[in-house]
Formats: sequence, structure tokens, C-alpha cells
Amino acid sequence: VEQRYRDRNAESWALLERASAVMPGGNTRSSLWSDPFPLYFVSGEGCRLKDADGHSYVDLLGEFTAGIFGHSSAVLKDAVSAAHANGINLSSHNTYEVRLAELLTARFPSMDLLRFCNSGTEANLMAVALAKIATSRERVVVFEKGYHGGLLTFGAASAKVNAPHKFEILPYDDVDAARALFAAKGAEIACVLVEPMQGAGGCRVGSRAFLAALRDLTAESGAVLIFDEVQTARMGEGGLQKRLGIIPDLTTIGKFFGGGLGFGCFGGRRGLMERLDPRRPDAISHAGTFNNNTLTMAAGIAAAEHYLTAEKLDALFDRGEALRSRLEALFADRKAPYTVTGLGSIMNIHGAAADHGDSARLLKLAHFALAERGYYFASRGLIALSLAVGDTEIDGFLNAMAAFLDESAAVFS
Ligand code: PMP
Repeated sequence: VEQRYRDRNAESWALLERASAVMPGGNTRSSLWSDPFPLYFVSGEGCRLKDADGHSYVDLLGEFTAGIFGHSSAVLKDAVSAAHANGINLSSHNTYEVRLAELLTARFPSMDLLRFCNSGTEANLMAVALAKIATSRERVVVFEKGYHGGLLTFGAASAKVNAPHKFEILPYDDVDAARALFAAKGAEIACVLVEPMQGAGGCRVGSRAFLAALRDLTAESGAVLIFDEVQTARMGEGGLQKRLGIIPDLTTIGKFFGGGLGFGCFGGRRGLMERLDPRRPDAISHAGTFNNNTLTMAAGIAAAEHYLTAEKLDALFDRGEALRSRLEALFADRKAPYTVTGLGSIMNIHGAAADHGDSARLLKLAHFALAERGYYFASRGLIALSLAVGDTEIDGFLNAMAAFLDESAAVFS
């Protein structure tokens, strides 16, 4: 099946060779790499993608959750065009940023005040810096397999890329380990940075008990609890925090809240965020030419008003839950060596073998086989439904998955 992948994607391979002459690995996002080579896409419309070799795919990846709108949204295009016609780079405060800030603070229970930036990575960098300055403490608690963009990357060769923080790395969803760390070093902990569901870590959902324990431990010790909701903000109008009723001190968001353009945002309790007010003598500086760029702000406003409504997000959540349970049932029914984890519209298919290498091979097999049948999800198993994916596509995907499982039954047994 890998040979067939190579054969049918010759143009993507040629593009990779061309690209490798000017970019390491032929690309500018390390996390996109997958063996033997990733596909090059040339266009998208609605929930469909077209690759360089002319194949059409149902896009089940949705740009790793950022592409919640589907492709070619007229609403977003009009908003960006109107902002563009109205003069970009206005050289001062602008009205777009006020409106977007009003819309977002109204949604997230934790956000009294917020600041915009250009990526989820930046939002996390600023949130952690703010927590350290506000607490006059140094230790930053993060979790194994956590992903916060360029802030923290696991793997020995990447360690020097990480922001120079005193990280304490705990197992995820382990209340006892968190309690033990706070008992030993609570007075030195500036903040806990946690995804309420780990995204890149394989769509692992944090239990309510775990997240509530983090809330209690940080509150008791005077540390700042930061929820990275860059992915999970889509779980409902007020993000996963509102669904859970657990309110952090700071929240970071990004991706789709920029209406498809580069975006990040961090916000939280007034007392903390006020440290960024330039009128204060002890103000913390947070600069960035494009933090309030009118194109992103306008796209964000249109996205919040037209797409990221409570009704649409709740419906998307339910659609994702339904897909995940149908996949679970399919795997169970066929006794197939796959599992699926996740929450709402974000999920991860995993190979389920005793040996990790075999699990990885199983996942690869499913990835190639479903791509051949016209369904695209991440090689690491991630699916993030967009609002453009309908019942027809979901039924088609499940049928294609069933056909693949039937065809491969001999390989699995
Ligand atoms: N946090 C989480 C949970 C993410 O999933 C991501 C991106 N996938 C980021 C932070 C980083 O955001 P960005 O890629 O915009 O820097």
C-alpha cells in the first residue's frame, strides 16, 4: 500500500524534491512531516481538498483543528476583502480589535481582559511569562505529551528550542503526581499549563477530577492555572472550560478564532492581565506589529458571529461524538486492531497492537488505505471535523473504513 501511495502521488514527490532545495524537509512546519512524504495540496472547496496529482479528498483533518469553517467561505472572504478595502496597517489602535475582544471576553468565563498575538505558540509564551512575573516564581508545570506549539517540544534534539523555563514535567491525568509535586515545591510553582484535552498527544481527555485538582492545587499555592484551549475552544461557545465548569486564571486560544488567518490570544483574570497596561509604571511589555492587524481581526469577528455560535459549536460537538461512537462500534464489530479517543469534533484513531511499532504500522496502513479511497486525515490519526463536513461525507468515510477493515481482515488476524 505504501508503494501504491508513492505511485499515485508522483507530483507531490516531485514537489517535495523541489521544495527541499529551499526549505529543510521541503516545508516550514516540522509537525507536518510524515513518511514516505506528505501530500502537496493545491486547493480546497467546502470540505474537499485537491492535491497536486489531481486527486480529490474529503478533508477530515481540517488543518489540525484550525480549519473549522471548511474551505472557501464566502463570509470570511467578504470580511477580509472589506477590511482590506478599508485600509490595512492603520498604525494605531483600531476598532476591529475592540469588537473582537468584546466578542471573545463575552464567551470565555476566565477572560476578563485579553491580548491578541499571532499564534498559539506566542499566546502560551506570553501567558507563561505573565504568570512568572506576577507570582515572582520560576517553575512551570507541563505534562508528558503536552503540546503548546514552539513553547515546549519533547525529544532530546529539540530541548534547546524550548523556551528557557524551569519545566516540571508530570504525567497527564495523574492527580497523585500533581499533589506530590505541589506538596514538595508548591511555593516555587509559577503556573500549570495544561490542555484540558491533549490534542497532539493523541486526543487524551483530561478527567474532571484531574482538572479540578489542578484548579484546587494552584489556587491553594498561589500559582496560576493556564488552560491551553487552542484546540478545545471549539467544544462549545465558552470552550471546554465552560462545559466543565472549571475556570482557569489564564486561557490561551488561537487557530479558528482568527477566522482562518494567523492568530493567537491570551486572556484571563483582570488582576493578572492588568499587568500589561502600558499606563502602569511596572507594565509588562507585549508588542507585535501584527497583533491587531485588521485583516485577522475582521476575519475573527466574522468567524465568531457567523460560525462559532453556540448552536453551531454544539451541533459540531454532537456530530463528532456520533462519529467517534460509530467508529468505536465499527472497530469492535470487526474486531479490528484500532481504537479511537477524543471529545466532540476532535478525535484520534490509534493502532492497537501490543508492540508500539506494530501500532504505528497499523495506523499508517489505515491512513494510506483511506487516502486511496478519498478520505484525508493526519498520518498520526487525527481527525478534526469542520462545519463543512456533512452526513454524506461521514457515512462515506465509515463505509470506506468498513471496506478497508474487511479487505484487511486477513492481515489483522
Ligand atoms: N497549543 C495547542 C494545544 C495546539 O494544538 C497548538 C497548535 N496545534 C498550539 C498551542 C500552537 O499554536 P500555533 O500553531 O498557532 O503556534
